[in-house]
Amino acid sequence: MDKIDLFSDIYPEEDYRSIISRHHKLSANETLNKTNHQLFNKNSAKIGLIPNNLNWLISKVYDARKVQIENLPYKNTLVSLVISFLNKSQIEKLKNYMFNGYTVNPVATLLRKFISNNIRFCLMCNAEDYDNIGVNYIHRLHQLNSLSLCYKHFVPLVESGNSITKVDIQSLKGNDLSLEYINFEKNLIIDIIYLLNHLTNSELIYNKFISIFGIKRVYLKKGRNIQDRINFRFY
Ligand SMILES: [Zn+2]
Repeated sequence: MDKIDLFSDIYPEEDYRSIISRHHKLSANETLNKTNHQLFNKNSAKIGLIPNNLNWLISKVYDARKVQIENLPYKNTLVSLVISFLNKSQIEKLKNYMFNGYTVNPVATLLRKFISNNIRFCLMCNAEDYDNIGVNYIHRLHQLNSLSLCYKHFVPLVESGNSITKVDIQSLKGNDLSLEYINFEKNLIIDIIYLLNHLTNSELIYNKFISIFGIKRVYLKKGRNIQDRINFRFY
């Protein structure tokens, strides 16, 4: 089987869709269908929110990349946030979808409740990424629709489709959001990053999650009406 020796680098907090999209551009394949076929043995012209048939890709990369690819679902998607709400059989189905190429994604609906419809980015991250590595990429935490600020810079996120050339990055630093609102999102971001990094203890995640989205609603009543965006429904 042919190895893929040019699978793109993966950057910190990079969204899975960004990795595949950059790989597609580097590959110079004419269609996304061809790229999906090479990477996942799938005939599809789309990039999903989470991988499907990752074991195919793992079998084609050199050993040094295998661990990084195995960790893609946990490091480069937001799937960890939904795992604690699944039972054992659902988790098994999810793993079979992500790694073994099963055709039904059992968390597609759930994930769409968390993830923004449009790709979002932070202008300050873009500038920093370009300065540091010469590349712009999509950050997974910018796609979480319960957050409206960047997890690093606490400035408002911009949705794709908006013109970025006309926006003055400096003006974002002095945005007019209240300190209370910014502090609320800072705490939320800390909690979400905690959840994403404690995948192995699902009961802990569940309890933490409930505490975040229970207690934190007290904040919301005082400030802007962001409750709706945080009002996840799992049942
Ligand atoms: Zn940023």
